[in-house]
Amino acid sequence: MRDGVLDIGADGRILYVGPAEDAPEWAGALRPVDGILMPGLINAHAHSPMTALRGRGGNLALGDWLRQAMWPAEALMTPADIRAGMLLGSIEMLRGGITTTSEMYFHVEQQAEAILQTGGRGILAEAVLDLPGGEDWRKVVERITTRIDSEGLRSGPDERIEYAYGPHSAYVLPPEALRLVGELARARGALVHIHVAESVEEDVELLERFGSVPSLLKETGLLEARLTAAHAVHVSPADIKLLAEAGTGVAHCPTSNAKLASGIMPLPALMQAGVPVGLGTDGPASNDRLDLLDEARTAALIARVTRQDVGVMTAADALLLATRYGAEALGRDDIGVLETGRWADVVTVSVDTPAFATGLDMPDDELIGNLVWAAGSRGVVDVRVAGELVVAEGETVRSDRHRAQAEVRASAVRLRSRR
Ligand SMILES: [Zn+2]
Repeated sequence: MRDGVLDIGADGRILYVGPAEDAPEWAGALRPVDGILMPGLINAHAHSPMTALRGRGGNLALGDWLRQAMWPAEALMTPADIRAGMLLGSIEMLRGGITTTSEMYFHVEQQAEAILQTGGRGILAEAVLDLPGGEDWRKVVERITTRIDSEGLRSGPDERIEYAYGPHSAYVLPPEALRLVGELARARGALVHIHVAESVEEDVELLERFGSVPSLLKETGLLEARLTAAHAVHVSPADIKLLAEAGTGVAHCPTSNAKLASGIMPLPALMQAGVPVGLGTDGPASNDRLDLLDEARTAALIARVTRQDVGVMTAADALLLATRYGAEALGRDDIGVLETGRWADVVTVSVDTPAFATGLDMPDDELIGNLVWAAGSRGVVDVRVAGELVVAEGETVRSDRHRAQAEVRASAVRLRSRR
């Protein structure tokens, strides 16, 4: 929309968005826009506290990367490490225009604190695993349920925090755990965030017993929950049909899948089937950027070259994956779109950079093309969450980036020395 105007109510929600000439008179706080306004980006799958583990195991495939590099280091992480890692991750994401992140990790209370400190928005799923020597999965599921029942599904200022269930994956949990999580989540309308069919190796045993991971999810009732399946790389046409029929959201993580050599998700096939697909950065130790516009560009490039067809994805499609479709993949109708009544999570992109050949003076599709193909997150200048300015001129307003970096460095050094 050209000459658009956006007005934000005192409650942090969008009061009016539309052409300047139709804007209601009472809207005294109208802001004429210099540049592009777009919805805050939605990271549908992340483990952001892993900023302290960035760079580790960079040449290992998923199974070895998890078992040799990640799980041993994560076992040493304290709640304070997780808080510091989340704080830095949240700062990095906000600076790149990501206003909402859907996380799966441990110590979610510390994550919530860090996110609220920066002023971002988070959906926090505590990870549930059944590993030797680890906490009993039943206790973790019970803790999540108690948290949701006492705090409410959404909490914090402007509902910036949502709590969710995070069964890590079908290959580290017994089917009865999936069944229980499905029941508890359905009864509460809670989101279930799970890794699905990320690599071939992890699922060999499951495939022999259940045929496919999506069919196991169906059998255990998880598909009937509000579900986000991260990755969904190795899915058959029958699996895609199951996901589409259930309305299961998928978090597509093209960079992580490429870096860990996991495979290529059939994005065009999922989208054509009507599966709500959003984008995820995955953790900063497997990507290693927390940059969703970079992810949008990568998703579009891979979809085009895999099909050898430029028509499968436009720059606008890629931007929708990072915004509107991301909200759909998480089952949220209050973010991801600039629309009256939704939260005013808004990103301002400057066109005063070399990436925009002629500023705003170009056809719409070329302008969006400049944003997705050329500018990326470097174009982001200001970011608002629920109307509040949390990034100004590229830096976070509420938290000191240099201090957050120093804290994570201290964590990283300590974790490394204890290896
Ligand atoms: Zn993941």
